[in-house]
Amino acid sequence: QAKAAGRGRVVRFDAEIRSEAAQRLRLDADLRHALTHPGELFCLYQPVFRVGDGRLSSVEALVRWQHPADGVLPPALFVPIAEAAGTIAQVFALVLEQTLAEQRGWYNRTGRWIPVAVNLSPRQLDASTADLVLTTLRRTGTPPDMLTLELTETGMAEPATVAAALGPLRRAGVRIAVDDFGTGYSSMARVADHGWDVVKIDRAFVAGIHRDTSRAALADAMVKMAHALGMQTVAEGVDNAADLQILARLGCEYAQGYLLSHPVDAVGILELADTEPRVSVELASGPGRVE
Ligand code: C2E
Ligand code: MG
Ligand code: MG
Ligand code: MG
Repeated sequence: QAKAAGRGRVVRFDAEIRSEAAQRLRLDADLRHALTHPGELFCLYQPVFRVGDGRLSSVEALVRWQHPADGVLPPALFVPIAEAAGTIAQVFALVLEQTLAEQRGWYNRTGRWIPVAVNLSPRQLDASTADLVLTTLRRTGTPPDMLTLELTETGMAEPATVAAALGPLRRAGVRIAVDDFGTGYSSMARVADHGWDVVKIDRAFVAGIHRDTSRAALADAMVKMAHALGMQTVAEGVDNAADLQILARLGCEYAQGYLLSHPVDAVGILELADTEPRVSVELASGPGRVE
């Protein structure tokens, strides 16, 4: 009987794996279609706030896919497929184009540049990415330092490749952020060698730090190391006020997360740009106050 149950199990797993493979194949084909039909891939923008005064500081573009049959799909469902299929650079081109266009729109409406960040896949670290970015910046008249590219630590497996791919961008003034810091295989030493601009501390070292002293100690160390290297820090996934309070005390300059705002569309950013601070963090000694 155990054997029969065991066999049944194998059959079920096999069927699951097969339908997963079929799903990937289908999405792969659908994605090629989406890349030539503007509008299916679109961006939401996650606001990043200054911890010190609670005001909007910049935004991160997060890609979404309005799939014709499946609804809105998150990047976790199709970015890996695009990476495997070799179409990730096209996804990036669309995201960059859309984001810089929205940024120009915000500038026209508010008279100031809101810095934007776009995620870069480690699978597109070649000369063509730098060419594309520089050409696009020139064509749109965007100040290069109003663009940050976010690269996860896992993307830093080969320092020479990374440095070669990003060199021309850095020399032009484009900023580079280390994304999801603390979760990859890299080290602060590697980050130091690259001399990048921003460390984004992963949610794993942010969520719950007000009641987890060892995690708070890690976040503290990351902020200190980043500052020692002349880099700024952004905390990711801030979803409660008590954690934000701790981050303020650690000297973390910027924060993003559901406490402050979910990702919103371009109009949502415009509204945030001219409203009162979302939160105000009192940095007085003692437990402080968050509104
Ligand atoms: P990421 O760059 O670390 O982006 C932050 C992710 O955390 C976003 O998920 C965001 O919605 C989510 N998030 C923000 N605040 C909170 C919070 O308080 N709690 C929780 N639980 N989550 C929060 P999203 O949009 O699903 O993106 C997931 C990942 O997909 C991104 O992680 C990034 O690595 C990748 N990605 C997104 N857009 C692009 C893109 O255009 N190109 C590439 N290559 N990758 C992208
Ligand atoms: Mg990111
Ligand atoms: Mg991140
Ligand atoms: Mg993350």
